[in-house]
Amino acid sequence: MTQSARENADNCLETRIVIVGTGFAGLGMAIRLKEMGIEDFVIIERATDVGGTWRDNRYPGAACDVPSHLYSFSFEPNTEWSRVYPTQPELEAYLQNVADKWNLRPHIRFSHTLTAAHYQQDSGQWIINTSGGNFRSQFVICGNGGLAEPKLPDIPGVERFAGHHFHSATWDHNYSLAGKRVAVIGTGASAIQFVPKIADAPEQLSVYQRTPNWILPRKDRAYHRFEKWLFKRLPITRKLLRGKIYCQNEMRVLGMVLHPALMKLFRITASWNIRRQVADPTLRTLLTPTFPIGCKRILISNDWYPALQKPNVEVVGTGIKEITPNSIINKDGSEREVDCIIFGTGFYATENPIAAMIHGRDGRVLADVWADGEEAYLGSSVHGFPNFFFIVGPNVTLGHSSMVYMIETQIAAISRVLAAASEVSATAVEVREDVQQAYNQDLQTRLGGSVWATGCDSWYKHRSGKITQLWPGFTFSFRRRNRDFKKSDYLFSKSSVEAGT
Ligand code: NAP
Repeated sequence: MTQSARENADNCLETRIVIVGTGFAGLGMAIRLKEMGIEDFVIIERATDVGGTWRDNRYPGAACDVPSHLYSFSFEPNTEWSRVYPTQPELEAYLQNVADKWNLRPHIRFSHTLTAAHYQQDSGQWIINTSGGNFRSQFVICGNGGLAEPKLPDIPGVERFAGHHFHSATWDHNYSLAGKRVAVIGTGASAIQFVPKIADAPEQLSVYQRTPNWILPRKDRAYHRFEKWLFKRLPITRKLLRGKIYCQNEMRVLGMVLHPALMKLFRITASWNIRRQVADPTLRTLLTPTFPIGCKRILISNDWYPALQKPNVEVVGTGIKEITPNSIINKDGSEREVDCIIFGTGFYATENPIAAMIHGRDGRVLADVWADGEEAYLGSSVHGFPNFFFIVGPNVTLGHSSMVYMIETQIAAISRVLAAASEVSATAVEVREDVQQAYNQDLQTRLGGSVWATGCDSWYKHRSGKITQLWPGFTFSFRRRNRDFKKSDYLFSKSSVEAGT
């Protein structure tokens, strides 16, 4: 046990703050707490090492679509990134180094999966149940990630499939695809990375596409030794590069949110990209989306279209009717026997399973409160759930730039709320309902005019149609909005125990 937790009579380890998760969000928050002089916190982590999404998603070819010099903590630059776009092993190693450098491991309880969290109205504390033990804390900060729970498709018969199967986020590296009949279901950001890497191995690879995506060229390359030397010796060069990438990405907001007509420029490039890489007109039609570019996440790849044209690879676009114990039957009646199915079918993004575990004031369950779609104030606080914060909660995801920037913004904002609560000796702090409502009305109005509302299905949207994932604007606007912290947006109170009532 670290000094940051004490066992109490209820068999709960007592600590001031429990952080959930050890990805960018959880580690970044822990570092901020240390900087504030707070050591009394515990990080619970369901896995056995740090890294979040970059520890879990180890499929062949896993990498980030945001350049490495922007997709990293501003306070922990890395001059050694090997490429423009960081690969999964590099990102995992980066996060491990950060955890070690800041001596965070003594705070982490590995193999502790969150099972429930209950707010105690009398004390203003939370009881947090995990697979490894219980905790009592004043604050809970949830950095569990918006894309953490792999989703299997709701295709009839999927549970009866008797062959080998796994999800892209739980890749089975012990299973050899060589000489097998393999099906990949899904053609999103994950599939377009792993399909080209595995395409040569199977005897037959059938890629089941429900909706084609717009794909732009991936301008990736290795950094030269001289560049790395320059980044190290002249830090201004690395900072300038980071600034350049940041500004270029922010420009995309002009088309995505402010003037969707500008997205035509991306469409021209994406259409050219298909034309130059896919010669067969039938395949080209099959791979060309019909929705406006940007409505779903724009993907980047140089090897996806070539992989789909290998002699052992086929794209099946007729729609799946049913999965049997050894085959996939399509809506056109055709059937393909398969040995293995790889699900590249995404995550529970809009219905974060963790919400069903969170019991707030008056026993309300977050999943019920969010039944018509998640919402929060600044993506972190929800009325009715005092002393509870999300990092990468509702409407914080980006369609255009680095989530690490948004995470740092939220960490700073949560720190301000924690400091304000300390300042007035409050035991509970909660966002005001009217503030949360006004914020979300404004968000939804802005989202209504964005490219994401132009008529496509995506994981950005709740099943009600409400866009619950994306921030509709520049990332610096989000930061400014968070910096304009007003104490009056929150209700500060003392618990009945503290107040002696
Ligand atoms: P995704 O983008 O949600 O893609 C899921 C795919 O599965 C889609 O093609 C979807 O088709 C298909 N699908 C889902 N249910 C289906 C069903 N019942 N029948 C047939 N097809 C079905 O998931 P992902 O590829 O794992 O990526 C998720 C997100 O993670 C990305 O958008 C991105 O934010 C992040 N990510 C980033 C990177 C990166 O930075 N390079 C890499 C991987 C993931 P529809 O399109 O028709 O729904």
